[in-house]
Amino acid sequence: MYFLSQNKEYEAKAKIYRDNDADINIIKNKLVAIIGYGNQGRAQAMNLRDSGIKVIIGNVNDEYKEKALKDKFEVFSISDASNKADIIMMLIPDEIQADIFNNEILPNLKKGKVLEFATGYNITYKDVTGINPPEYIDIIMVAPRMIGLGVRETYISGEGYYSFIAIEQDASGNAKKILLALAKALGTTKKGAIETTFAEEAHLDLFTEQAFGPALGNVLRTSVQVLLDAGYPPEAIFVELYMSGELSFTLKEIGEIGLIEQMDFHSQTSQYGSLTRGVRYFNPTIEESMKKSLNEIQSGKFAREWAKKQKSERDPTASLKKVAKTMPFTIIEKKVREKLKKFK
Ligand code: NDP
Repeated sequence: MYFLSQNKEYEAKAKIYRDNDADINIIKNKLVAIIGYGNQGRAQAMNLRDSGIKVIIGNVNDEYKEKALKDKFEVFSISDASNKADIIMMLIPDEIQADIFNNEILPNLKKGKVLEFATGYNITYKDVTGINPPEYIDIIMVAPRMIGLGVRETYISGEGYYSFIAIEQDASGNAKKILLALAKALGTTKKGAIETTFAEEAHLDLFTEQAFGPALGNVLRTSVQVLLDAGYPPEAIFVELYMSGELSFTLKEIGEIGLIEQMDFHSQTSQYGSLTRGVRYFNPTIEESMKKSLNEIQSGKFAREWAKKQKSERDPTASLKKVAKTMPFTIIEKKVREKLKKFK
């Protein structure tokens, strides 16, 4: 138990599953179809195969298919793979899942099949996304907190990776056992599979993208601005703040031992300065903006806006990215990075 706000108690209440909680044999006789052989698809297919699971790939006819064939997997059309498999894993980009699901997967979803997702988005916002699976299948989720490469590398090293797992629909009465078996075969219970819901996963993921990430980015941008305006050399500013890689080490330590505990790695001057001045940045407007973003995520406002945007524009992020790329911050950052590269 620990305290963040006064008069409020927070409990560590989610269940975390590890290897001992799961039995891979539950799915040893099942056929798994990985739909999409991209970042997650390739890593997850290889982990399952190395865990002794029968895996086929469903992919359209292009370079990812060639990659899967080269890796010695049997590859079928998405429709055929869904028809053959007992467990269908949706590992194509979220934005195109609805079309593929409705045209090629839904007609093959017979009773007893399991549909698996690597994120909760499309099911949480199914009214908006248009993915409405039938009530007679199991719907489960293993959402890695790790990029595909890491999913594979930490499986090979034996370290494992964290994931969020959930059951949306348990038609067979066996969904929990299947979910845990799959999580173990994918290598995540080696480290920890944290029980959540589809909605919790989607909300947390979106919050990180829409509040935590941008807030951090803004702190960086503001720091650069204040120091540039005060006349410090841009090269020194960027190296000091993050281009040296020191920040990445500190973030790693924060992840592994804690925000306050990692201070011991820094000098006494650093500790005194940040502990006395840090309180200036307990800024209520950041909390207000974060709550606003979270409300939009929870109410579905963001999902509706995003669905509308995707329907009305062919490349819905292009104009936003163009603006971001021409910001003074991005331009000076690029110049400094190029200059630093020349000395490598
Ligand atoms: P990728 O972008 O790497 O997926 C690419 C795959 O999707 C390829 O097999 C590609 O095949 C196929 N694909 C792309 N467009 C189409 C299309 N129009 N029709 C048919 N197939 C298509 O996806 P990710 O691995 O990044 O994401 C997969 C899932 O995993 C998503 O649900 C995502 O949210 C989730 N996830 C991703 C994480 C990550 O780190 N990337 C982390 C955790 C979860 P081809 O090019 O041959 O068409």
